[in-house]
Amino acid sequence: MLGTKPKPSDNHTSESPAALRIAMFSIHSCPMGKLGTRDTGGMNVYVREVARELGRRGHHVDVYTRFHGDGHGPIMRVSKTVRFIHIEVGENRRIHKLAIYPHLSGLFCKIDTLRKQELSEYDLVHSHYWLSGRVGNLAQGKWKIPHLVTFHTLGKIKNHVGVGDSEPRLRIVTEKHLVRSCDRIIVSTERGKQELIHFYNAKPDAIGVIPCGVNLDLFQPMPKSEARSQLGLDQQDTILLYVGRFAALKGLDRLLQAISFLKDHNKLRLIIIGGEGFDSPETVRLKRLSRALGVENRVIFMGSIEHESLPPYYCAADLLVVPSHHESFGLVALESLACGTPVVATKVGVAEVTIKEGKTGFVVSDPAPHVLAEKIGTALTDPQRKFASVDTLRETVTRFSWSNVVDAMMDEYRSVLNGFRLSAVKDTSPMVFRLSKTSSL
Ligand code: UDP
Repeated sequence: MLGTKPKPSDNHTSESPAALRIAMFSIHSCPMGKLGTRDTGGMNVYVREVARELGRRGHHVDVYTRFHGDGHGPIMRVSKTVRFIHIEVGENRRIHKLAIYPHLSGLFCKIDTLRKQELSEYDLVHSHYWLSGRVGNLAQGKWKIPHLVTFHTLGKIKNHVGVGDSEPRLRIVTEKHLVRSCDRIIVSTERGKQELIHFYNAKPDAIGVIPCGVNLDLFQPMPKSEARSQLGLDQQDTILLYVGRFAALKGLDRLLQAISFLKDHNKLRLIIIGGEGFDSPETVRLKRLSRALGVENRVIFMGSIEHESLPPYYCAADLLVVPSHHESFGLVALESLACGTPVVATKVGVAEVTIKEGKTGFVVSDPAPHVLAEKIGTALTDPQRKFASVDTLRETVTRFSWSNVVDAMMDEYRSVLNGFRLSAVKDTSPMVFRLSKTSSL
């Protein structure tokens, strides 16, 4: 678990013998990609923040992802010791993520060739999402180094929730194999750990729990009136905010339905940030739903917004709403609280453990749209009286600094490496070999 106080980043970047060489795989989605689009969200923020923070501490991190041609060259150096390396997957740069699967071993060969050309070696591999896990598994076998996996989402759990497209058997079989074969699984909540044990039969002691983080330098409070003037928003409006991808699991449909139950709230606006673009099928569908529900005049679709430009939106809002059916973590709740804006969320991810009922927001156990509407209504009645001060709201999330996250991650890396070295010694020791042979007789 993370400590309770934020630590200043360890800024030394000089080479030290303790510096690790880490290969990270985020194959299906580039960590530097446009956030809020179909496959680019919390995982991407996580990978880039963790990589940068490891780099600040002098560790060498190569993050491998697929080449996507959005202005990123093959190798992006983001600091002295951190690189994002784009590798071509098949012929088509826009193929659906599932279609990447057959190319994964070819992709690993390219990564390995590059590694050999550069004469580089890694101490460990950390993969993100099941597709990357498959590549990590190949690296684990060939490079003889430990493999850590963070799944971010899991196929069986998505199918269990039952919202959106069902996940293919291939994914679930691969995830099961990874659970057995990797050296450590990192999850971001206790609930995530329990889900892995329940749905994948994972061993409890093979799982480390490290919450995700929030960039506390970026997400800072500013006066609501100032944020609204900056964004050209009406000072008198009551503003609800949604930030995220437009995936079915995110529950945008029920948020729009909830708005239709809030007819008594004059000047209520819902600002929706995220999505593929104004003409994308999903945005068109959501606009049509808003019209059908009679709330189109209250809903503003902003499209996706650069991560660095988000703070004024959080600060301008009266409430962030997280209407998701499921979240592995849910970074947006932390970002909102870091800006001093309360959150109304369904009982998902970090929201269910971080939100202090009535003080920093509300958790809605029954996610039916009218119940969600009721909670939003309660939260809006008198926010000044009901919620804690901006500083207190922020204080509740300061322990989630990326620096604290990386402290915990380094503990995991070191302990996996120690265990790996010890087991390597044990496996090759003739004494142990003789003993185990004798004991099996
Ligand atoms: N995000 C962003 N711009 C957008 C939409 C989303 O920067 O237009 C970011 C948001 O700030 C958050 C991440 O994308 O850091 C979404 O993460 P979250 O964990 O909430 O959801 P996930 O994508 O993992 O389902």
